[in-house]
Amino acid sequence: MRTRLEKVEHRLRAACARAGRPREAVTLVAVTKTVSCEIAALLPELGVLDLGENRPQELWRKAAAIPNVRWHLIGNLQRNKIERTLPLVHAIHAVDSVRLLQALDDALANAEPAAPARAVSPLLALRAQAPIVLLEVNASREASKHGFTPEELPGLVPTIAALKHVHVAGLMTMAALEDEPERCRPTFVLLRELRDQLQRELGRPLPELSMGMTNDFEVAVEEGATMVRLGTALFEGLQP
Ligand SMILES: *Cc1c(COP(=O)(O)O)cnc(C)c1O
Repeated sequence: MRTRLEKVEHRLRAACARAGRPREAVTLVAVTKTVSCEIAALLPELGVLDLGENRPQELWRKAAAIPNVRWHLIGNLQRNKIERTLPLVHAIHAVDSVRLLQALDDALANAEPAAPARAVSPLLALRAQAPIVLLEVNASREASKHGFTPEELPGLVPTIAALKHVHVAGLMTMAALEDEPERCRPTFVLLRELRDQLQRELGRPLPELSMGMTNDFEVAVEEGATMVRLGTALFEGLQP
């Protein structure tokens, strides 16, 4: 896995360099959904401190085994799983409905205030109380995909501005699976433009763009991704 990680790092650095961006501008989120806790637990030692899961139950399980990292929920969150998920996550990437946004806001309002009682590590102690929340956008307009449509976003401005506890920090998308990654570029450009428009209308910055997977992350970085979510590039062929 060290060799794969080195290859990914090399490609990330090259993509950042092409875009004139510092490597630190992009967070590598290792998506561990296809591997065991044992394999996922090797990541922190290799310097990867951001881990992602797409199913809440699997995130709960792995977060219990590997607490000293930042956990990212990259898939859908059902409202009945909010309470158990919130204390475990650094970021929620795929909020795709107003109902979920409001349920998150309510849950955070009820959450215990101030510092966590049992800080397991300095990293967790430093973690902001409320997780980073991103809105999923169906920027590729595929019928099978979750997310707000690009047209729906401007109408969300009053809702986002009225949230008391959820701090929406940016947008997330999944591009269509293409043979040629270059064909994903319009999807990433659109997400960035939607972010720019939304932050103008909100009158505050939305710094995060979660876009780019194994197939297309270099193009996503060139177009401004601040988080790439990689599974296959790190784990393909490894025992689950
Ligand atoms: C599985 C998954 C990824 C990782 O995809 P790879 O192509 O394996 O890198 C990224 N984002 C989401 C939402 C996923 O479910």
